[in-house]
Amino acid sequence: KRLTSIPAFRAERPKMGHLGFVPTMGNLHAGHVSLVERAKRECETVAASIFINPAQFARGEDLDKYPRTVEEDIEKLKRAGCDYVFMPSVAEMYPSGITLDIPDQQGTFIEVRGKSHQMEGIIRPHFFRGVATIVAKLFNVTTPNVAYFGQKDAQQCVVVRNLVHDLLYDIKIVVGETVREPDGLAMSSRNGYLSPSDREAGLCLYRGLSAAQRLFAQGVRDRARLHAAATDAINAEPRVKLQYVSLAHPRTLEELDTVGPDGAILAGAIQTSSTRLIDNVLLGVPDGL
Ligand code: AMP
Repeated sequence: KRLTSIPAFRAERPKMGHLGFVPTMGNLHAGHVSLVERAKRECETVAASIFINPAQFARGEDLDKYPRTVEEDIEKLKRAGCDYVFMPSVAEMYPSGITLDIPDQQGTFIEVRGKSHQMEGIIRPHFFRGVATIVAKLFNVTTPNVAYFGQKDAQQCVVVRNLVHDLLYDIKIVVGETVREPDGLAMSSRNGYLSPSDREAGLCLYRGLSAAQRLFAQGVRDRARLHAAATDAINAEPRVKLQYVSLAHPRTLEELDTVGPDGAILAGAIQTSSTRLIDNVLLGVPDGL
């Protein structure tokens, strides 16, 4: 069932019972579907949202060309067992308005300080403020019991866990594993931007992360060797530019010299000629993210 306004969602919420919620920006792929299917197994009712959040885009990023495929998305959600799809308008979600120019923004925004400036935050300093703000708003409307996020966006999982902890939301966060194409490329709505050559070149990111993962499995724990395994594979591909490789503690996001008992997130970002790609693997994180 489509709910296209906040009052419409709130009117239905009492009927939903124990609710699993999957926030998305649409253009759904098997990664999104896996989260919905998991929510369906674990909750009485499942709601997904499709909302392209302006606050997490900077000027010059792809807000205007972000793929919009609502009818196909709704078909996929239905097949995955989703009961409700929430598709609010920008005006409703940002009642004080929203401009991409942060100094000119009006209204209320949420920052998860200490977890938003590393990794993705280096390249996209506005990004997690936008994410935390929209996730809080969506939680306030949908009041889920459980919310599902993908490990593909590992830092986002850490930011959301901190948001829930600090703002005292009574919501359980579940992280689903990254769904990949058969050749290893992590599924992403932005993969549609890739030319065939960029698509092939982009595989170097997961190739590098996987090489480090194999070293870790052989007992390697020191940063230099794990980091080099990832960056060497990326630097060997002339068609992409390495943005960062991070070996960080899975909760504090502090860069590690050695991987200890809590394990690590090994995350990377590259720029191809058509789009940027991010990916990560977990190295010995006992309970996942
Ligand atoms: P997005 O629509 O890109 O904002 O993603 C919505 C949710 O799907 C987020 O929690 C993402 O982490 C998750 N997601 C995106 N790509 C994948 C993937 N390849 N595997 C699993 N989850 C994913």
